Amino acid sequence: MPDKSKYVFALAGNPNCGKTTLFNSLTGATATVGNWPGVTVEKRAGTYKNKDIGTADIVDLPGIYSLSPYTPEEVVSRNFILDEHPDCVIDVVDATNLERNMYLTTQILEMDVPVIIALNMMDALRANGQDIDCKKLSERLKVPVIPVSALKFENLDNLMKEAIEAAKTPRNGTSILLEGKNRDVILKAKSIYIKDWVPNPLYHAIKDLEGDDIEKKHHPFEFKQVNVLVPSSNGFEQESSDQRYRFIDTELGTCVIGIPKENPLKPTKTDKADKILTSRIWGLPIFVVILFLIFHITFSNDLLFLKAMGAFGSKGIVSFAGTPFEGLFADGGIASLGVFLSNLVNDLTGWFTEWLRSVITVSWAQGLVCDGICSGVFAVFGFLPQILLLFACFSILEDSGYMARVAFILDRIFRRFGLNGRAFVPMLIGFGCSVPAMMNTRTLSTEKQRTQTIRVIPFFPCSAKLTMITAVSGALCQAFKVANVDLITTAIYALSITIAIVAIIVMHATTQREKLPPFIMELPNYHRPQIHSLSLHVWDKAKDFIKKAFTVILLSTILVWLFSHITWRWTFLADDSELSQSILASLGMFLQPLFTPLGFGYQISRENGWVFVVSSFMALIAKENAISTFATFAASLGYQDVSSVQAVGYMIQATNINVGGLMAFIVFNVLTLPCIAAVATAKAELPKGQLKWTVLFWLAVSYCLGSVTYLVFTWTWTLAIFIPLIVGFFVFLYFYNKKKTIQEQQVKAI
Ligand code: GDP
Ligand code: MG
Repeated sequence: MPDKSKYVFALAGNPNCGKTTLFNSLTGATATVGNWPGVTVEKRAGTYKNKDIGTADIVDLPGIYSLSPYTPEEVVSRNFILDEHPDCVIDVVDATNLERNMYLTTQILEMDVPVIIALNMMDALRANGQDIDCKKLSERLKVPVIPVSALKFENLDNLMKEAIEAAKTPRNGTSILLEGKNRDVILKAKSIYIKDWVPNPLYHAIKDLEGDDIEKKHHPFEFKQVNVLVPSSNGFEQESSDQRYRFIDTELGTCVIGIPKENPLKPTKTDKADKILTSRIWGLPIFVVILFLIFHITFSNDLLFLKAMGAFGSKGIVSFAGTPFEGLFADGGIASLGVFLSNLVNDLTGWFTEWLRSVITVSWAQGLVCDGICSGVFAVFGFLPQILLLFACFSILEDSGYMARVAFILDRIFRRFGLNGRAFVPMLIGFGCSVPAMMNTRTLSTEKQRTQTIRVIPFFPCSAKLTMITAVSGALCQAFKVANVDLITTAIYALSITIAIVAIIVMHATTQREKLPPFIMELPNYHRPQIHSLSLHVWDKAKDFIKKAFTVILLSTILVWLFSHITWRWTFLADDSELSQSILASLGMFLQPLFTPLGFGYQISRENGWVFVVSSFMALIAKENAISTFATFAASLGYQDVSSVQAVGYMIQATNINVGGLMAFIVFNVLTLPCIAAVATAKAELPKGQLKWTVLFWLAVSYCLGSVTYLVFTWTWTLAIFIPLIVGFFVFLYFYNKKKTIQEQQVKAI
C-alpha cells in the first residue's frame, strides 16, 4: 500500500487497559477516563499529529473482553473493525494483566487487518520488578509488540511509527486454533467463505463454528453450509476457548521476566481496602458519609457545624464585620471551601457591575447591561466554583476506582428494584448533566432497563438544578430562620433519589416487567488520582459552563429583561414599579392559577407572584435560568448587584410566598421536564413512541409531588391523608406484582 497522508487507527482492548488514556495522550483530547467498564460506549475520534512521523485519526473503541457473545460494546467494536476497515488496529494490552488481556488479542488476530500490540502500563509492571520479552512475544504472535506507558507518555511516538509501518502492508488473519485439532474443520469452513468472496473469511469461519448469532443473521447462506459440512461443531466453542487459554498460559506466560515484588497471592492493599469499603454492612453507610462530606465542604456556611454547636458564642468571632472581607471567609460560622470561593466570585462580579454602572450613564442601557445582563449572568456565575468543586470531588472518587465499588455495592440494592448495578453509572453522570447520562444508558443490556433509567435520570439534580436548589434553599433559610442550607440540599438529593427508586419499582412492576440479566463487573485496583486528568475534567466542565453562561443564559436574560420592560402596547416601562404591566407579567399571571395547588399560584401576591411561574418556564430552556430570572427581576425592582440567594430573598419579600410554596417550587423544578437539550436526547435514546409517555410521566410526577410538598409543609396534618394513601398504593402494587408473577409462571408452564 502506498504512503497515505492520513491513516485511521482503532484502539481496541479490555476495559481499564488504558485505551482512553492512550487516546488522550496521543490526540491531546480530554475524553472522560472513567475507571469502570462501560464509560466508553460510543467510539470517539481524535487526531494524532507529528510532522516527522505522520498524521492519523485515532478511534477509541469501547472496552471489551472478547468478540462474542455480544454486549453493546462488543457490537460497536466488532463492526468498526470489520466494516470501517481501519488502516491498523492498535490492540491495547495491560502488561500487568497479560493473561486476561490476551484472550481478546487471539480473536483480533483472526481478522484480516494490520494489528500491532501496545503493551501498556509498562511503568507499573517495571515498578513491580518485572519485564516482558517483547521480541519473543512478537515472534509468537507474528505482529509487532511495542512497550508503552500511556500515562507517562513513554514510547508513544515509536508506537505510531510502527503502526504506520504496519498499515502499509495488508495482513491476513491468523489463528492459534489452526495449531490444534480443529485445523481441518476451520480450513473447510474458511473455504466456504472464500468461495463466496466474503472478506475476513478466517474470522467468520471461526465465529460461525462457535455458533455466533450475528453470523447466523448476516451470513445465513454460509452459516447453513458450514453447519452441514462440519457436523462436529457442537463442542467447538468450549474447545476453542480452552485452546486459547492453554496457548496464553503455556506460550505467552514464558515471555514475562522476573518475579513480582508483591506476592500475587498475598492480599494487596486493594483487597484490604475492599474488605471494608465493599462490606455488606459498612459499604453503604461509608458511601453516604462520603457524599455528605462532599456536599458539606461544597455548600456549608458553617464548616463542621462549629457555629451550630456554639463554638463562637452568640455573635460569631470570625465575622470580619466592617472589613472588605465581611462575609467572605465566614458569616458567623466558618465558610466551607465552596462557599468561600463562591463569595469571592460574587464580590468580584459585584465590583465589576458597580464599575460598569458608573461608566454607563444612559438610563435604559444601564438597565439592560447592569440589571438585565450582569445580574442574570453573574447570578449563575457565582455557582461556578461550587459546581467545579463538586465535580472535582466526584472525579477523584471515580478516578481512584471507588465509584466502581459503589456500583457493586448498589447492585445488591438495585437488583431488588429491578435494575442492574450498571444503571448506577448513567445515574451518577446525571448529577452532572442529563444529556451524557442518557447517552450512557446504551451500556444497559435491555431496552426496558434503558427506558426506565432514561425516565428517572432527570430526577437526579444536575449541576444546573443545583444552582436553583442552593439559591432557593439559602434564601428560605435566611427568610424563615430554619435549618442549614446543606441539610436542605442533602434532603432534596435524598428525596429525588428516593423518587427515582420508587419510580423504578413502579415501572418494573407494571409497564416494564422483565427478568434481570446477571451483573458482572471487574473492580479495578485503587490508585492515586492523576492531577493531569483531574484538571482536564474540571477544565472541560468549566468550559461548558462558561459557554452556556455566555450563550443560552445571556440570551435568555436579555429576553427576560426586554419582555419585562415592554407592554403589549409596545411602550417601554422606564418606571420599575410598573413591572406588572409588562408582557412577561401578563403571561405569567395568565398561567399562575395552574400553580395554585403548588403554592406559587393565586395565593401569593398578584403583583409580583408570577415571577415564580415565569422562572419555571425559563428553566425549560436551561435550568440555570430559574435563578438568573430572579436576579434580573430583583434588579428591576431596585435591588441591584445582589447575590442569587439575596435575589430569591427579595422575591420572597415581594410575593409573600411561604415555606411550603418554596419547597414545592424546588421539588417541582427538580422533578419536572429537564431542559430542552435533555428532552431532545431522550427522544433520540428512547424506543420509538415512548417520548410522549415519558414527558407525561415527568409532568405528572412533578406536579403531584409539588402539590403534596406544598400541602404537607403548609398543613402538617395533611400527612394523615397522604401516609395512608402511599401505604395503600404500595400494598396494591405488591398484590398486583404477585398476581402478574403467578400469571407469567403459568404462561411459562404451558
Ligand atoms: P480504558 O477503560 O481502556 O479506556 O482505560 P482508561 O484509559 O480509563 O484507564 C484505566 C486506568 O488505568 C486509569 O485510571 C488510568 O489512569 C490507568 N492507566 C492508563 N494507562 C496507564 C499507564 O500507562 N500506566 C499506569 N500506571 N496506569 C495507567
Ligand atoms: Mg475508556
